[in-house]
Amino acid sequence: MCHSLEEVKRLVSRFDGSVAFVINHSGGKDSIRMLGFVWECFPNTPTFAVMADTGFEHQRPISAIDFAHSRCTDFNVSLTVVRNPRRTYLQMVEQRGMFPSAQYRQCTSDLKRGPIEKYIRTLPFRLIFNCMGIRSEESPPRSKLPPLTLNSSLTTNTRTVYNWFPIFEQTLSDVLCWHWENRVPLHPVYVPEFHRDGTAGGYLRRLSCRLCIFSTDTDLLAIRQHDPEAFHAVSELEQKIGFTMRSTGSLVQITKAAQIVIETRDAQVCLPF
Ligand code: SF4
Repeated sequence: MCHSLEEVKRLVSRFDGSVAFVINHSGGKDSIRMLGFVWECFPNTPTFAVMADTGFEHQRPISAIDFAHSRCTDFNVSLTVVRNPRRTYLQMVEQRGMFPSAQYRQCTSDLKRGPIEKYIRTLPFRLIFNCMGIRSEESPPRSKLPPLTLNSSLTTNTRTVYNWFPIFEQTLSDVLCWHWENRVPLHPVYVPEFHRDGTAGGYLRRLSCRLCIFSTDTDLLAIRQHDPEAFHAVSELEQKIGFTMRSTGSLVQITKAAQIVIETRDAQVCLPF
């Protein structure tokens, strides 16, 4: 058993009767695995799911919100969808005249963290675990994060809130295997190799905003092909505000260059010896 789980169990027994888990849900594989994990470890503790809708969530072939609702129903957990009432992701970019960056992720703070924290403040529990599906394996900076920390901005005299990463030590393979073994479906936007039920047509390895500031070049190419509306919405925004999402060029330039790299590589593979 990991150390953070031991500590969470100790805290739950101390505050027995006024404890809740809040699952930050995106509709993605890690959120669902996290919900399953908390449900397995704490079947008798109230658990709530909350999803922050950025206004730029996947809509097809099933919306990320509807998909998250279905997965929460599987675990008999209610899902609350929260939003920033003032702006969506695209409106935020247009109003600021620039895109968020890895260093300054205003999208996460304004459109996700803020509305979710507002929701947590409404819950009548003395101890709350704000659960996020972050995994150590995802990146070197993430691997250095502590999986259980006191959330001092949400903690008051009558409420203690911890940020907890319940599946911090799980690998991608652990997460996918759990989905397959328990027949818990994944959103169809995921690449076919993530599915074991024959679902095809997916093109992304992460479920995030339809086009995220962290999308790779390969993701951008796939989005241009499979979700042209999202690609053009962001591309047109780049032109409108005169600011590109990436410092290396516009989305059109980046995807054209990536396409050339792929075509050149494929042509070399086909050359006769
Ligand atoms: S998914 Fe990407 S673009 Fe959307 S809020 Fe998160 S970091 Fe920002």
